[in-house]
Amino acid sequence: MVTQDPMQFEPLKDWLPIKSKLLVISGPCSAESREQVETTARELAATGLVSVFRAGIWKPRTRPKSFEGKGEEALRWVAEVKSQTGMLTAVEVATPKHVELCLKYGIDMLWIGARTGVNPFSVQEIAQALEGINIPVMVKNPINPDIRLWTGIIERIYQAGISRIIAIHRGFNTYEKSIYRNIPLWEIPIEMKRLFPGLPMICDPSHIAGNRTLLPKVSQNALDLDMDGLMIESHCEPDKALTDARQQVTPARLELLVKNLVIRKAAGHKKEPAQELEAIRKQIDDTDHQILEFLSKRMSMVEKIAHLKKHHNITILQIERWNSIFKDRIKTGEAHGLDAAFLKKILELVHKESINIQTRIMNRENP
Ligand code: PEP
Ligand code: MN
Repeated sequence: MVTQDPMQFEPLKDWLPIKSKLLVISGPCSAESREQVETTARELAATGLVSVFRAGIWKPRTRPKSFEGKGEEALRWVAEVKSQTGMLTAVEVATPKHVELCLKYGIDMLWIGARTGVNPFSVQEIAQALEGINIPVMVKNPINPDIRLWTGIIERIYQAGISRIIAIHRGFNTYEKSIYRNIPLWEIPIEMKRLFPGLPMICDPSHIAGNRTLLPKVSQNALDLDMDGLMIESHCEPDKALTDARQQVTPARLELLVKNLVIRKAAGHKKEPAQELEAIRKQIDDTDHQILEFLSKRMSMVEKIAHLKKHHNITILQIERWNSIFKDRIKTGEAHGLDAAFLKKILELVHKESINIQTRIMNRENP
């Protein structure tokens, strides 16, 4: 549920000083030792690209007896990063106690992890612990691909009086086989942006990719979707990391990755070729209207055929017909340069709606 009063998020530029052209948050998945935190932070600071140092202090692990983070002592190391390098610091919190300790050690920003976010009780407890405290909170998308869960967390944090909020897109858990550790489902962050245009949103390509190789591609995809920044895990010796070793990069590799990203202009930029863009947008609007008109025409034909089938007592589903439509449309669509997976999705939707319409007509009392 979206609240009645639109949420007014504070624009990022008003409260978060950014070191380079792009907001980069980086640091280890887990703070493991004072030395690891210090070395990683020093090397990150030297790149001049990282505005916020992140580190996991309490790690949500799938199985017991895995490394669960160093807890309070690691907060001290992270707090030192700030005084030694000037980078702001961010830590994941999952309980009111974590919030209390982060405040005690002067951590600058908090984030709610993807596993905590699925539990409204935990989120509510964290929100209560944040009442009356002015600290920025980042909200990762919960692992389930359900946009309402994600917006629910943001609403709870906002209702606690916090308007410095950043959404973090970190991909979703699905049963689909995929090259990603967490499938990005880009349509979900895009829908979030549509629902909350003022909500700053960054991407965490590390947890989407799950490995170093895919990081540049996912990061570029995120920027091309106008994300406000990136959170990327880094470690002075990634292969020795106690958590998420495959996806962490050295600060040097992070520097290379960030420098190779293409930062495109956002709409409204001064140099935007306004007229050309406007003309193409107009064509897109017209084409969309035509598509809708055609869809409506197709569905009226479906209604006609439903009446005929009903009259002659013929089943709605004629599987050979559907098969031949499917094959033919994919072939034609591909010849027009469209992606087969995309065509498949659209055809299935259109077919589903056709069946719905026909079922409604068949079920009506009168012939
Ligand atoms: C993390 O950032 O280290 C982490 C645990 O991420 P997520 O909550 O996205 O799994
Ligand atoms: Mn991690």
